[in-house]
Amino acid sequence: MRYKKFGNRFIVRLDRGEEIVETLKRFCQEKEVKLGSITGIGATNKAVVGLFDVKNKEYHKKELTGAFEIAPLYGNVSTKDGEVYLHLHVNLCSSEHKSFGGHLNSAVVSATFEAFVDVVEGEVERVFNRELGLNILNI
Ligand code: FE
Repeated sequence: MRYKKFGNRFIVRLDRGEEIVETLKRFCQEKEVKLGSITGIGATNKAVVGLFDVKNKEYHKKELTGAFEIAPLYGNVSTKDGEVYLHLHVNLCSSEHKSFGGHLNSAVVSATFEAFVDVVEGEVERVFNRELGLNILNI
């Protein structure tokens, strides 16, 4: 992972073999990014995406393998119990130009991945909402 900073924006490059969610989380921890948005494009060959089952209050996960364009990844940075908390969604485009998407659990870079991390100077904590079974923004 490599980056450059311009004002409140980081331009981040991830390389082949790096896992996107974990790397971006570590990056935000190291740079003390506690609130912001993340956009990204690139390629992956192995990803785990989830869909939240509102009725049963649980995520259904699906592993996708093969050649995919990340077109795009979008998400936000907040905190839970003071720790960096990423909420990322992704759309993956297959070689047949079909889309698969969902809540992003993990994705391994197959070629390159380019993220813009826009920092907001502030902090918004998440809190677990028992009714929903989700960690929602506490605002
Ligand atoms: Fe989600």
